[in-house]
Amino acid sequence: MKQWDVIVIGGGHAGLEAALAANRMGAQTALVTLDPEAIGTMSCNPAVGGLGKGHLVREIDALGGALGRIADQAGIQFRLLNRRKGPAVQGPRAQCDRALFSQAAQRVVDDSEITIIASEVTDLMMASGVVTGVKLGNGAEIKSRSVVLSTGTFLGGVIHIGEEQYAAGRMGETAATRLSERLREAAFQVGRLKTGTPPRLSARSIDFMALQKQPGDDDPVFFSFGTTAPMARQVPCYLTRTLPETHVVIRARLGESAMHSGGITGPGPRYCPSIEDKVTRFADRESHQIFLEPEGLKSDWIYPNGISTSLPLDAQQAMLATIPGLERAEIMQPGYAIEYDYVDPRSLDHRLGHRALSGLFLAGQINGTTGYEEAAAQGLIAGANAAANALGRSPLTVDRASGYIGVMIDDLVTMGVTEPYRMFTSRAEYRLHLRIDNADQRLTPLGLARGLVADGKVFSAKMKALEVGREALRRVSLSPKEAAGLGFASWSDGARRDGMALLAGEGGRLEMLATADAGLSSVPPEIGALLETEARYDVYHRRQLADMERLAREEGESLPDDLDYSGIAGLSNELAAKLAAIRPSSIAAARRIEGMTPAALLRLLAEVRGPRRRAG
Ligand code: FAD
Repeated sequence: MKQWDVIVIGGGHAGLEAALAANRMGAQTALVTLDPEAIGTMSCNPAVGGLGKGHLVREIDALGGALGRIADQAGIQFRLLNRRKGPAVQGPRAQCDRALFSQAAQRVVDDSEITIIASEVTDLMMASGVVTGVKLGNGAEIKSRSVVLSTGTFLGGVIHIGEEQYAAGRMGETAATRLSERLREAAFQVGRLKTGTPPRLSARSIDFMALQKQPGDDDPVFFSFGTTAPMARQVPCYLTRTLPETHVVIRARLGESAMHSGGITGPGPRYCPSIEDKVTRFADRESHQIFLEPEGLKSDWIYPNGISTSLPLDAQQAMLATIPGLERAEIMQPGYAIEYDYVDPRSLDHRLGHRALSGLFLAGQINGTTGYEEAAAQGLIAGANAAANALGRSPLTVDRASGYIGVMIDDLVTMGVTEPYRMFTSRAEYRLHLRIDNADQRLTPLGLARGLVADGKVFSAKMKALEVGREALRRVSLSPKEAAGLGFASWSDGARRDGMALLAGEGGRLEMLATADAGLSSVPPEIGALLETEARYDVYHRRQLADMERLAREEGESLPDDLDYSGIAGLSNELAAKLAAIRPSSIAAARRIEGMTPAALLRLLAEVRGPRRRAG
C-alpha cells in the first residue's frame, strides 16, 4: 500500500494552505475532501482581511502561502481599514468575487503536485500513540506519516433556521458525523461552538438609489507583496441600517430564533454577533449599520453584512421589510446558524501537533477559531509541520514577537477558547513591530529556511535596499540649525541627530534629507516609506519591549480579592466585568483570561502598585 508523507483532511481554507505548504516543502501530499469542486468555497461573507485578519494574510503571503494572492485576484473592492490611524493598526480588506476566488484557488491546486481524493474520512488509523493514516467512507485505508485534520464546521454540523434543524456541514453540504463520533470515542476533548450567516438577497430587488454608496480606495493596498494592481473590475458597496421598527419585529420573534430559544447550546462569536444578539445586548441602540456587499461581478447575490440571523424565514422577511432599501428584498438563501464540534486546542503544541497522538496536526475552525484568515494561517503552520514530521526536518513555529500567527497559536494552545476565536490587533503585545508593511521582513527568512518560499531574489533585493537606506540615515548627523535649514522642526538641547531620529520627529520626511547624504537621494519610494515608518516607530517599539519585559518579571504580583475593577481607568467595561467575575489571583492568572490585553495588564499592575492602593 502506498504511504503518503502527508494527508490533509478537508479542502477548506486551512486544508488548502496546509496541503500547499506540505507540497512546497517536498512532501508527497494528498488532500481528501468531501467535494473537490468546493475547494476555495467561502462559507460566509466573500471578504478577506480586516483588522488583525489582514495582518494574518500578509504573514501567510510572507511565508509563501496562497490566500493573499487568491484574494488579490478575486478582489472587487479594496479598503484599508483604520487608514487615518498609524500603520501598526491598519488592516487591508477586500470584498471578493466568490466565483473568481474559487477559480483562483482551484488554479493554485492545479499548479501544485497535490493529489486530490474525493471522499469522506470516517476514521483515523492509529497505533501506539502514532497516527498512521485515514479510513475512507468506502472502507479503503490510506497510509500516511502525518495527517492534518481541518474539517471546519462539518464535524457534527447542525444547521438551525428558526425551530427547524438538520445535519449539514454548511448550507447544501452534508455533515461529517462518522468522524465526529470516532473522535469522541477516541477521547479527543470535543466541545460545541456555533456561528451564523445572514440571508443572501437578490440585488435586483434592492433599492440602491435610496442608499449611501461606499466606494473602495483610490490607492488600494493589496495582500500579497507581489501584487501591484487590482485584477478584477472594482465595484462599490452600499450602506443601510436597521430602524426601531426592525428591532420591534426581531424582539417579537426572539423566542423562535434558534440562538435565543435554547435550541443551540454552544457559544457563538461575540465579535460577530447575530442581529438577535445585537438587539438584546445593545437594547438602547436604535439602529445598527448594514453593509450591502456584492458576492460577485456576475452574481445577483448581495451579502447584507451585519444581520446574521437564525430567525425563521418569514421573520427574516418581515425584518428586511422594515430596512431602508430592502423593503422588497428577495431572499435567495435564508440566514442560518450552525453548531459544530471543535477540539480543545490546548491538546495541541505550538506546531499545532496533537500532544497525545504523534503525527496528527489540527488546523482551522476545528481548533475553535472563526474566519478564513485564521484557518489559512493555521493550515500553513500545520501543513509545514506535518511535512517536517514526515521528512525529519526542523519544525516551524512562530513566536508572539514575530507574527500574529504566533500570537494566535500561542493563545489557542495555552488558553484554549470559550467562544469562536478571531484575530484582533489588541491581542498582540508587539503591535508596533507586527505591521503589515514588514510582514516579509519578519517571516520570509523563516519561510526561505524551511523551503516554504522558493525564490528569495525579490526579497533579498528589497532587504539590501533597506539596509543601504538605514546605513545612509545613520551616517547623517545634523545640528538643530542644519536640520531647520532642511525644513525639520528645531530642538533645544543642541545635540546632533542622525537621520533615524530626524524622521521620527513631527513632519519628518525622507525627501527632506535628499541633500544630506548622497545615498538618500535615490531611495525608491516604497523603501522610503518603510524607512519613515521604521524611524517613527522605533522609540515606541523599544518602549513596548521594555513594558513586556516588565510584565514578564512581575507576573507573580498578586491581585487583591477586593479589587474594584470597575474603578480602574482604561479598562473596557467588558474586561472589567470579566475580571470582576473571575477575580484572578495574580497578574499571571489575569493574563490567561480571554480578551485580556497587555495594556490592560499594565493598568492592573499600575493599580496594585500605584499610590492609590498603597495609601489605602
Ligand atoms: P471549512 O472552510 O469549513 O472547510 C472544511 C473542509 O473539510 C471542507 O472542504 C469539507 O468538505 C471538508 N471535510 C469536512 N469533514 C470531512 C471529512 N470527514 N472527510 C473529508 N473532508 C471533510 N468566519 C468569519 O470570520 N466570520 C463569520 O461571520 C463567519 N460566519 C460563518 C458562518 C457560517 C454559516 C459558516 C459555515 C462559516 C462562517 N465563518 C465565518 C467561518 C469561515 O467560513 C471558516 O472559519 C473557514 O472557512 C474555516 O476554514 P476551515 O478550512 O477550517 O473549514
